[in-house]
Amino acid sequence: MSQATAQTEDDRATVATVCLGGCSGCHMEFLNIDHDLVDLLEDVKFEASHMIVDEKGVPEADIGIAEGVVTNEENIEVAEELRENCDTVVAWGDCAALRGIMSLRNDDDPDEMIDEVYLDKADEESESPRDDVPVPALLEDARPLDEYIDVDVYIPGCPPDAEVMAHGIEALLDGEQPEIVDEKLQYD
Ligand code: SF4
Repeated sequence: MSQATAQTEDDRATVATVCLGGCSGCHMEFLNIDHDLVDLLEDVKFEASHMIVDEKGVPEADIGIAEGVVTNEENIEVAEELRENCDTVVAWGDCAALRGIMSLRNDDDPDEMIDEVYLDKADEESESPRDDVPVPALLEDARPLDEYIDVDVYIPGCPPDAEVMAHGIEALLDGEQPEIVDEKLQYD
């Protein structure tokens, strides 16, 4: 069977996930669905997600999921790409949904933070990473996703419970809006 034929027979829904200004904790928690991931993969194909496939950028997908705040200029580009290429956009976790713990940096000056991390703490003998590696410019504040793009679904928590995240995907596959009950809200 040719590869082209195999692709046309794959009628699974497609999902792309991105990590903006997050700690990857939401993605790591999602993997705690353990063997249920195998069942989920019968209905879902992950087109991009750093936890599962080594695919850069945001391809077209039925569901686009973002973790983390919008905290630098690159995050804006990725968020806009997610919105443009995905039919439904989901904010995973308090950072993406509400701005969360990652916004604690909002009281500090972005330039001073960059200098402290990449210059002041650098070994005097080594060259500054800031000179060699392009670091995306920090925005004045870290903000939630819906301040930059329209968001269709919010999954709160830090990180959200793995089952809640999986249920969110399954509900969307059934054409339903995921319901988050208080008992399932998780802040670990
Ligand atoms: Fe990390 Fe919590 Fe933010 Fe998810 S919501 S990216 S786990 S800090």
